[in-house]
Amino acid sequence: MAAADFSRMIAAAADTIAAHAEELTALDQAIGDGDHGLNMKRGFEAVRAEADAFAAKPLPEALKAVGTKLVMTVGGASGPLFGTLFMALGKDLPPAADRAALTAALNKAIEAVAARGKSQPGQKTMLDVLQPVYEALAQGKTAGEIADAADKAAAATVPMKALRGRASFLGERSIGHMDAGARSTALLVRAVAEAIEAI
Ligand code: ADP
Ligand code: MG
Repeated sequence: MAAADFSRMIAAAADTIAAHAEELTALDQAIGDGDHGLNMKRGFEAVRAEADAFAAKPLPEALKAVGTKLVMTVGGASGPLFGTLFMALGKDLPPAADRAALTAALNKAIEAVAARGKSQPGQKTMLDVLQPVYEALAQGKTAGEIADAADKAAAATVPMKALRGRASFLGERSIGHMDAGARSTALLVRAVAEAIEAI
């Protein structure tokens, strides 16, 4: 991937997080502590500030640098988890990644997030978006279809009962609200899918 394409992808991710920060805050206020919007905005602005330096590295190193920066800047429960996602993608992707390599690396990265969070799909977290995105990627879906699958998966967290993260403290009362991390993951998936499609 060309450095300019990687920079554009980071900018698209940071833009969508910034544009939806208040929405993410409101979602986290309903069943968490209300910091998710600011956490994500702080992290992705920090990544944006170093986008060109990261983009100059080979793709695996660039992704690891993004993950490391997110761990250092997002905070909360989601920082180490999003950080793990990007670091694991960097660990498993070859420098010249094709769709098959991305699919395999995403599978590994989801396993790494699940291990870090002691979590699995079905518990009302970001994994409930990541897993369907992996499946759509594996099924050969288009970028638009993958982004739509991510939105649908985030919406499908509304009726779930949270079993991980702060929302799990609410038990049954977590039902009826979208998981903030699922929503931010869907936003990132759409931004990246559209950026990849535009290459
Ligand atoms: P905190 O919960 O510490 O305030 P954030 O608000 O930034 O951190 O992030 C909350 C999001 O992190 C949740 O909406 C959920 O998607 C995700 N999350 C929390 N704990 C876990 C976990 N153990 N496994 C996977 N995702 C998790
Ligand atoms: Mg929170």
